[in-house]
Amino acid sequence: MKKIIIGNWKLNLDHLQGIQLLQKINYSLPKDVEENIDIVLAPSHTSLRSLQTVISTDKLKIKLSSQDVSMYKEGAYTGEVSSTQLEKLDISYSIIGHSERRTLLNENDEIINQKLKRLLEQRITPIFEIIFAYEPIWAIGTGQVATIENIIEVLDFTKNLISSKSFYDQEKSRFIYGGSVSPDNSEEILNLNIVDGALVGGASLDSDKFVKIVNSIKL
Ligand code: PEP
Repeated sequence: MKKIIIGNWKLNLDHLQGIQLLQKINYSLPKDVEENIDIVLAPSHTSLRSLQTVISTDKLKIKLSSQDVSMYKEGAYTGEVSSTQLEKLDISYSIIGHSERRTLLNENDEIINQKLKRLLEQRITPIFEIIFAYEPIWAIGTGQVATIENIIEVLDFTKNLISSKSFYDQEKSRFIYGGSVSPDNSEEILNLNIVDGALVGGASLDSDKFVKIVNSIKL
């Protein structure tokens, strides 16, 4: 399974800073690394168009993810961004069901389920369902990383649970870890067979750290 590294920039960086970081990351990545590892950046909605323009103009292989999507298709929903609008921007992935949105913005399973449907309608890969992310809440942004035994145990459990469901696709489903991934722990985590990649928050805002995390995957 091709591994994937997703940089979740959260509520950081304006579009000019985003372009700079994209260019730094692209410059520092080994040539053609994207043939072996999917590299995905998730900036704020306001930066998606600018980054997408740089990616298409410079023919970069880095892919984009949104950090969220509306549960609605269209209509009078002020401030929302739809899956159709994201699809038109060539956005390949979208993070849904992130614990920060659940705890700080009151998102529940019903809302997330609607969001999932909107993404699938537009063939955008949800980072949650089709890519299953194990993110212990206590490990997000805290510098505390889960133990290797814990990661193996939870991903193994999740894989067994999901693989019995009708929507499970062995070829396409990836199981990733997120929670204080850094260059100090990425080699051990990312080279586990059961780990198909990582969702990286804080460390993805630093191009050196992000590229080191990518480079810690043994090809
Ligand atoms: C995240 O945003 O999902 C995350 C794992 O953040 P951090 O790497 O900062 O813990």
